[in-house]
Amino acid sequence: MSAFDDLYAGNAKFAKKFGNSGLTGRAARGLAVVTCMDSRIDPLGLLGLKAGDAKILRNAGARVTDDVLRTLVLAVYLLGVERVFVMPHTDCGMTKVTDSDVHALTQERGVDTRSLEFRTVPDQNEALRHDLVRIRTSPFLPEGMPVAGAIYDVRTGRLSSSPH
Ligand SMILES: [Zn+2]
Repeated sequence: MSAFDDLYAGNAKFAKKFGNSGLTGRAARGLAVVTCMDSRIDPLGLLGLKAGDAKILRNAGARVTDDVLRTLVLAVYLLGVERVFVMPHTDCGMTKVTDSDVHALTQERGVDTRSLEFRTVPDQNEALRHDLVRIRTSPFLPEGMPVAGAIYDVRTGRLSSSPH
């Protein structure tokens, strides 16, 4: 018994019905979505997408980090991405703690995380605005590329109506 047997069992079932072998690595809908690692988010399903349609970039809080920018550059120039949608969500754990809180919690377990920047989110709208600006003003991404953001409501399944 391994800790991952359930995954292999799930994959065996999946592979039996697999029908996507004709897809390429290019984003068929020209889209990249930056969203949170939250387990309640099904990015393809909630946006009406399917495998092959979009690049999905996920991290804690849907933050536009240097690594997200690096990945977007590759997605745009190599993999057919022409628009970017940033999608944080309600009830996000990153809005409930500060970086100091996280450092204190890990310290209790004997781990010093002070060299990590967690990019916790005191104000979700402000963080989203900031992250959109990071993409829009990146010197490495095409000027005028469509970039938008909205907050996904994990209770209703809807995107916030006023897009950023
Ligand atoms: Zn989250």
